[in-house]
Amino acid sequence: MPAPQFDALRQRLAEIYHLAGIAALLEWDFEVMMPPKAAATRGDQMATLHARLHRETTDPEIGQLLDALEKDAASLTEDEAACVREARYDYDRATKLPERLVRELAKAQAEGYTAWEKARAASDFALFRPALERVLELTLESAERFGYKDSPYDALLEKYERGMTAKALRPLFAGLAENQKDLVARITASGHQPDTSWITGTWSREGQERVGRDVLAAMGFDFDGGRLDTAPHPFCTDFGPGDVRLTTRYHEDDPLSALYSSMHEAGHGLYEQGFDLKWSGTPLALAAGLGIHECNSRLWENVVGRSRAFTRFVLPRFRKAFPGRLDAVSEEQWHAAANRVEPSLIRVEADECTYNLHVVIRFEIEVDLIEGRLAVADVPERWNALYREYLGVDVPDAARGCLQDVHWSHALFGYFPTYALGNLYAAQIFEVFLQEHPDFWSDVEEGRFLTLREWLRERIHLVGRRRLGPETVRAISGRAPEPGPYLRYLEEKYTPLYALG
Ligand code: ZN
Repeated sequence: MPAPQFDALRQRLAEIYHLAGIAALLEWDFEVMMPPKAAATRGDQMATLHARLHRETTDPEIGQLLDALEKDAASLTEDEAACVREARYDYDRATKLPERLVRELAKAQAEGYTAWEKARAASDFALFRPALERVLELTLESAERFGYKDSPYDALLEKYERGMTAKALRPLFAGLAENQKDLVARITASGHQPDTSWITGTWSREGQERVGRDVLAAMGFDFDGGRLDTAPHPFCTDFGPGDVRLTTRYHEDDPLSALYSSMHEAGHGLYEQGFDLKWSGTPLALAAGLGIHECNSRLWENVVGRSRAFTRFVLPRFRKAFPGRLDAVSEEQWHAAANRVEPSLIRVEADECTYNLHVVIRFEIEVDLIEGRLAVADVPERWNALYREYLGVDVPDAARGCLQDVHWSHALFGYFPTYALGNLYAAQIFEVFLQEHPDFWSDVEEGRFLTLREWLRERIHLVGRRRLGPETVRAISGRAPEPGPYLRYLEEKYTPLYALG
């Protein structure tokens, strides 16, 4: 029998969860549906809702319930104890910032965003600098209030990837950077580039959408418990069990882009659809962190979606949706085009081989900003030097340099590493999956993906926050996160594609 206090706690957590679901619905509508004139009203609605959410999350009554439950811990089941532990973490974290700081941060972020947009349009970092300095100042204050052991950066990273630290990331990222830099150099030196001339012309949105929906259904995405819509910047969100929203963006001059962005978002969506329903509304039915979320999306998009076996499955579907257009295009051509490597300036357009290098550059800069070794004014110079060093490209202007990402204007320091961790985790756990399911690739050729979805569901989705990201990787692979599996994966894929010796 659960203690009455535990029921009371669950009730309070459920209310917070529902408010958060409503906020997510309003945000989804803002991105996908809302008419432009609604922006001001929507801003007021969101501010009201978030103030209410903050009050609920930091209500001292939750603290009292947690105190009572912790005193009586012996009477709790293992799951109840995990739920109390996670609710305590959320409560303590939420109550560490005084309301004055929360308000000042929200204001600085809104001003930071406006300044960043102007600065990017004018490609002039000086227009962003004062706003970024203010955001950084408040971010440093919040790091001090959250508390940390080694570096204030850890207090920020914790928001996105609990269980990971700057100290643990450094050797991981150094291993990735050194080897990926070398691989990119060998690919560039090979002088080989795939033939993508067959992509020219118009690819109707209808045809692309038909294939995309087929692929998502084969992956096991439940369309009775979710939707696929379009948005300028694709994302995935959920409002509670049975309502997971994916968005994608169709480019009529490129049939590959929407396919892979849809698979990426559906990878996130399968995670959200796979939570433990018994524990809905509690931390046990929430993601373990952003790294492990990104592990799911990149596993489906890249490891599965850009594989040779998947090409064999998807190419006939495109041939059917675009009659006559792909008759002369071979599997090799499709596969090579889907895995084209090109060192570039823009992170969101980067391929699997160069992507982590973009992340490592941002990590080095933000750690130095947070630990006080770099001034905001010196960010552009440092950025440009690192792009030359890691990717061998010259940054022509700030818009295509340090002003390309929105993150820092929103005070999202510590967020970037989760993208690279997603790649790393995906490769590491997929090695284990393949050992257990050696026939997976022949299943993929025939459109059978459910072994993977079920495996992820059991090892990750149903576990929720009972385990954090790095612990999940260790539990599955028996080893702490390490760069080796991702580097092996890249070598195996790109050596034949680029005829590397
Ligand atoms: Zn993602």
